Amino acid sequence: MTIGILGGGQLGRMLALAAYPLGEFISIFDPDGDCCAGHVAPVFKAGFGDTSALEAWAKACKVVTFESENIAGEVLQTVQRHTTVAPGLVSLTISQDRLLEKQRLRDLGIDTMPFAAVDSLADLQQALGNIGIPAVLKTRRGGYDGKGQRIIRSPDDAEAAFNALGRRNLIVEGFAAFSREVSIVGVRGVDGDEVIYPLTENEHRDGILRTSRNLVGDPLHAEAEHKIRRLMTDLGHVGALALELFDVQGRLIANEIAPRVHNTGHWTIEGAETSQFENHVRAITGRHLGVTETRGYCAMVNFIGSTPDLDKLLALPGVHAHFYGKTGRPGRKVGHATVVAASAQARDDAVAGINRLLAA
Ligand code: AMP
Repeated sequence: MTIGILGGGQLGRMLALAAYPLGEFISIFDPDGDCCAGHVAPVFKAGFGDTSALEAWAKACKVVTFESENIAGEVLQTVQRHTTVAPGLVSLTISQDRLLEKQRLRDLGIDTMPFAAVDSLADLQQALGNIGIPAVLKTRRGGYDGKGQRIIRSPDDAEAAFNALGRRNLIVEGFAAFSREVSIVGVRGVDGDEVIYPLTENEHRDGILRTSRNLVGDPLHAEAEHKIRRLMTDLGHVGALALELFDVQGRLIANEIAPRVHNTGHWTIEGAETSQFENHVRAITGRHLGVTETRGYCAMVNFIGSTPDLDKLLALPGVHAHFYGKTGRPGRKVGHATVVAASAQARDDAVAGINRLLAA
């Protein structure tokens, strides 16, 4: 069958690469004919606002999925008049608006930092009075990789942060004094079957994910698994979903939902029996989900702005390269490496080796 993917970035590319061994065909919808998923799959080149193009494309696809939650809900609505979409509109709508997302999490009994909607300076000041300082002001929509947010460390910061972020459609939330950031990826099938990957620990720098490590036997895994199962079931989600969490003194606080395959799940490509990409494809095509057992101590290191020397990278034991075929630019994700090792020490040595190449 032909699987349509809205968006031709690296996630679309890796979904395509996982779909071909299952005998599926892929069609990427993207305004950029030279998008990086287009190197491995045909691109239907048209703008997301071109309704007749979307309709023609949707009719040729058995199922349509998306690689980013920043596509407009109207795009998915148009597509779903002509074919099946997975995940559905509910998952997309909730996860593309930080306020709806946090409200849904709270309604489900999944802890978040205290938060409030901000549409005026008075809203912000009142909320800061309740939440306290430090706090984080964010745009409700469109932020990623730390963009669209400001930390408010003193009452004097409030107005400047408010002005910098566009003065409305904002959310302010308490600052989480976390000891670590973790995430969990789950995949839910059409029939409601669910598989969950192990909890992953993540390091960010300048708001961008740098390194993820799978956690083996982490005491907070069960609680995270409970939360993501609850969420996937509530959303009637089909496909992969990631939940990003803060560990605040042993208490898990939800930060963000991504209704798709996720950067913190890239280690599963070689590090799990079935990768998040294959399981997403299996889910949206109505097939059995694959087991998520890990193959050892795994990690993922992002390449931001440029890729390291490939020969040196491949000389490191247990290291696999994933270059996206994108031109380098500061702050742009252009590839990643995965590590699979027999011990935590060997895994961390490999990560250190990759970081030395990146620093060279
Ligand atoms: P986000 O775009 O919400 O995923 O935020 C990007 C990064 O900013 C997170 O991974 C955290 O490192 C940091 N961050 C976001 N929200 C908060 C918060 N409420 N408290 C502390 N750090 C935060």
